[in-house]
Amino acid sequence: MIPSVLPTYNRAPLNFVKGEGSWLIEADGRRFLDLGSGIAVNALGHAHPALVAALTEQAGALWHVSNLYQIPQQQALADKLVAATFADTVFFTNSGTESCELAVKMARKYWYDKGQTERTEIITFSGSFHGRSSAGIAAAGSEKMIKGFAPILGGFTHIDWGDHEALKAAVTDRTAAILIEPVQGEGGIRPLPDQCLKGLRALCDEHGILLILDEVQCGVGRTGRLFAHEWAGITPDIMMVAKGIGGGFPLGAVLATEEAASGMTAGTHGSTYGGNPLGCAVGCAVMDHVADPAFLAEVNRKAGLLRQKLEGLVAAHPDVFEEVRGLGLMLGLKCKPAPAEVVNAGYAAEVVTVPAADNVVRLLPPLTISDEEIAEAVTRLDAAATALTHEMA
Ligand SMILES: *Cc1c(COP(=O)(O)O)cnc(C)c1O
Repeated sequence: MIPSVLPTYNRAPLNFVKGEGSWLIEADGRRFLDLGSGIAVNALGHAHPALVAALTEQAGALWHVSNLYQIPQQQALADKLVAATFADTVFFTNSGTESCELAVKMARKYWYDKGQTERTEIITFSGSFHGRSSAGIAAAGSEKMIKGFAPILGGFTHIDWGDHEALKAAVTDRTAAILIEPVQGEGGIRPLPDQCLKGLRALCDEHGILLILDEVQCGVGRTGRLFAHEWAGITPDIMMVAKGIGGGFPLGAVLATEEAASGMTAGTHGSTYGGNPLGCAVGCAVMDHVADPAFLAEVNRKAGLLRQKLEGLVAAHPDVFEEVRGLGLMLGLKCKPAPAEVVNAGYAAEVVTVPAADNVVRLLPPLTISDEEIAEAVTRLDAAATALTHEMA
């Protein structure tokens, strides 16, 4: 008989009932150190007092009101995002994949309104992940995600990650945009070198096409900058955001320049829940912390500490780990055994990590993790690796 919850997930037998900062408490009382943050969602950890206060205060005032009316919390969050980024304007969604839907629509509408109705193609890259909606799976184009779901939304050209020649050849007078993650998350924590992101910006400028960045996972302070593209010193035309921006409340956004957003006039797009008062009240509290340069400086300092300890871990367990990679607190351990085995060994050692493609285990701790918790995390990962080595022997 089919389970009452549609069985699309492979779930670990873990039942977390409470979260406190960097810790997840299991129903049986065990305390797990959380290096997953709900896949880069709980940017400020669990039950951060400022987020709890923002949520409960708003919950007592007004949960939801339609976008038919003014929403001051939405306006405030948009103002914060515009003040802190390249963007001139923001649309709020409830998830990353909805942000992908709008990014694709916005790019196509831009060219449509310019009279270039043939310019609909969007170039994307192997190993990327843009969500599970029709546009999201079409954009990523991986066989695993699209199989059985035909007809797949058309208009995407898939290029091998790092194949510069194929990329240049793929740009035609039908190209509307290039869409890429500055750091691939699901693909296995693969940062795009700064030079490549600069090159993509130059290529887009040369041909007058739009650059769309998917910062759903790598944005909101995760890499030590508010948004990852800042490391390369370039700006996109359109950017997808979600995950960390809500700190655990389902919230996403599409940020854009005035020019790139010019096609999206009244009536061209909408959402019932997107930008609702509860989500935006929490989003404002997240931004107040994460956009603070002192907070980001701490993220960078702690990222250095974690990375240094992980290099030691890799050196101590050459049978389990190959390398550390990533940026800021978006780190990956390339594994020799299957990543699921490493993740399971972590569970036994009461530390939570997240598997990714390319044989990588992701470490995405709360950005608020303390130095002591970093040391404890690596101690637990070390115990997990030791146990795994004994198992494999
Ligand atoms: C998680 C993710 C998405 C999809 O977000 P959902 O909220 O699950 O729809 C899109 N892009 C990237 C880079 C992601 O990591």
